[in-house]
Amino acid sequence: MPLDPPFRFPPVAAGEPLVLSASTYVSFERCPEQAAGRMRGTYGPESRPAFVGGLAHRIFARHLKSGEIADADLASACREEIGGSMNQKLAALGLKPSQLSAVIEEVAGLYQRFKTLRTEGFEGAEVALESEPADGVVLRGSVDAVFAEDGGVRLVDWKTGALGDPDAQLAFYTLLWVIEKDEIPALIEAVSVKTGERSETVPSRALVDDTAVRVASAVDALRSSWDSGGSLDRIAGPWCRWCPLLDECSEGAAAVDLLDG
Ligand code: SF4
Repeated sequence: MPLDPPFRFPPVAAGEPLVLSASTYVSFERCPEQAAGRMRGTYGPESRPAFVGGLAHRIFARHLKSGEIADADLASACREEIGGSMNQKLAALGLKPSQLSAVIEEVAGLYQRFKTLRTEGFEGAEVALESEPADGVVLRGSVDAVFAEDGGVRLVDWKTGALGDPDAQLAFYTLLWVIEKDEIPALIEAVSVKTGERSETVPSRALVDDTAVRVASAVDALRSSWDSGGSLDRIAGPWCRWCPLLDECSEGAAAVDLLDG
């Protein structure tokens, strides 16, 4: 049923075209300057956990789209996925082909756990959502899976590490879904395939409106930092450890020193 009153994205200041992805929004919510760094093209190096997670997600999607993968076929399925779209990441990681078996073994463990999750009502995997709710502002995300649920759909994000705090990411997907489909998902869910942790929320209209305000304000801040060349607020925390700006950030360095005791 269409939203009543209709959804309206908040006004944003005019500026350069900007694409805001789910991961950059999540980064902005943690530390605005880290997100500004991403917009400038500063990303961290490829990591082994990210590579394992990316490959596991490809295998989960393959399972949902084409059916269960037999144990004997998993290694070749992994190699096909790597050859299809992950070769560059493999090269960036510097993993030798001979080190791949350990990676595939890890993915096999995650896949075993994945197979115990409920997947009834499957509608789509790696569902790309993209919209331009304001002039020159593109919002982009990819939902791991969409399932039919009583009263609508369930959007699911699978984590291959700890669950962490998935709220901002799930709220961003909810907003994208509302803009594209004009309906609020019945349920948004994040599940750690590795640890079994789970977060489930029935999203409300208030969540959608609040997220839209936060996203619009992120757009304004990122555009203004881009225009002025100035930096945004730096909010230090455990995430600094993997921040590509750490070397030039005293706040981040102090946080990491503290964490290391
Ligand atoms: S090191 Fe930490 S505080 Fe500094 S920019 Fe990165 S995330 Fe922000």
